[in-house]
Amino acid sequence: MNKNGQDDNRTSKIFNPDVLVLGGGLAGLQTAIDLANPGSHVTIIERTSNLGGHVNQLFSLYNSAIDPRTLISEKLKDLEKNNDIEVITNAELVKLDGFAGDFTATIKVRSDNENIMKCIGIGAVIVATGYKTSFSNVDYGIQASENIITLLQLEDMLINNNFASIPQEQNICFYLTQDATKISCGSVLNDAIFLKHQFGSNVFVFFNDMKVYDDGLEELYLKAQDNGVRFIRCLDTNLEFIKEKGTAIIRVKDQSFKDIGSISNLEIPYSMLIIPEKIMPTDSYNDLRSILQIGLGPDNFFQVDNVNLTSVESNRRGIFTVGGCRGIRDISGTIMDARNAVLKTLSLLISSSDQKDHNQKAKIDPDKCTLCLTCIRTCPHVAICIEPQNRTAKVVDIACYGCGICTGECPTKAIELQGYSDEQISKEIGELV
Ligand code: SF4
Ligand code: SF4
Repeated sequence: MNKNGQDDNRTSKIFNPDVLVLGGGLAGLQTAIDLANPGSHVTIIERTSNLGGHVNQLFSLYNSAIDPRTLISEKLKDLEKNNDIEVITNAELVKLDGFAGDFTATIKVRSDNENIMKCIGIGAVIVATGYKTSFSNVDYGIQASENIITLLQLEDMLINNNFASIPQEQNICFYLTQDATKISCGSVLNDAIFLKHQFGSNVFVFFNDMKVYDDGLEELYLKAQDNGVRFIRCLDTNLEFIKEKGTAIIRVKDQSFKDIGSISNLEIPYSMLIIPEKIMPTDSYNDLRSILQIGLGPDNFFQVDNVNLTSVESNRRGIFTVGGCRGIRDISGTIMDARNAVLKTLSLLISSSDQKDHNQKAKIDPDKCTLCLTCIRTCPHVAICIEPQNRTAKVVDIACYGCGICTGECPTKAIELQGYSDEQISKEIGELV
């Protein structure tokens, strides 16, 4: 029985090399393409009916000359060429049983008439469910009528050459709020330069914290300055959106020269105000957390097991998180995550073939176990199940991280960490004293 209350007598006899990828955005596509080979079948399940995710919505990438939609269409071509990748759209994971190397995933596939349930066996799960964007003008004290659009709405206009609604030779303002990410900053800088050149607009960027801590971002910031984009530093609290005689105006205390004691008051009328959406965890994270039994961080994005030691590993062996579901990720960070997850999956496959490696795994003495379930509840890595024949707890070696938490919790002292038995530790202490 695992934490879900299911009996489960599976152990890591043979590692199933097949992999389930949750999410068909760039992170999921890249992971599937890198993982699939004649010996390993990859299934991608995507909640929506389209692949490509948020990258498809971007007009340009700040640290790459490649067009975002070209990037995705190239990945889709790679996908089509590969017979070892199956894509299921309008689908979601509803249940996951088992342990690393031997999971069974239950997938719900939605169709017009009925939902179909499908079960597949896999050895690892890659979570690449991305993020969601949200925007409310109320958050910034602005009326929706005040010539305001979101950054993604602007990107959509630029992608579709829908220039009719973009004011020509007038004031266009971007507002990078406290929540703006480096990805938003990169898109704003690119779009500001484009609007300046294409429409001869006066482009202003209001910001408190210009996040340029990534390859190419600082150069882009300097390029925007050289191209005549005006940057006005201000605190969110010093910015006011007002309307006078039908004209939308930003009133601001410019903090750019605060260091030398100069704060000037500016009033800038604008024809269009563009604000980036917030990037947030998707609504499915809570469901997925309980299905996968992996942890969320304080920001509600999926958390890696140890931020200092691991890049993509969750608290459960065989489950990895990549791309935007871990927080803010640019294109290169997403591709790096995908490649790390592939390496970790392959190394798990190789190490699992060495069944003699039981070092630093917990072991339960069935004669002492009273099946109180304490260890099953407390193991942070979901590595203990019920052995159905003896009705005792049993550690699944491949899933055990050897953290030792269960050994301290067992009331009957039935669990020992291999290499760290009470006798061994007493002996070592005795030799030291
Ligand atoms: S905590 Fe100890 S006694 Fe309780 S189920 Fe686990 S091994 Fe058995
Ligand atoms: S040693 Fe840690 S990972 Fe292994 S079974 Fe015990 S609590 Fe779980």
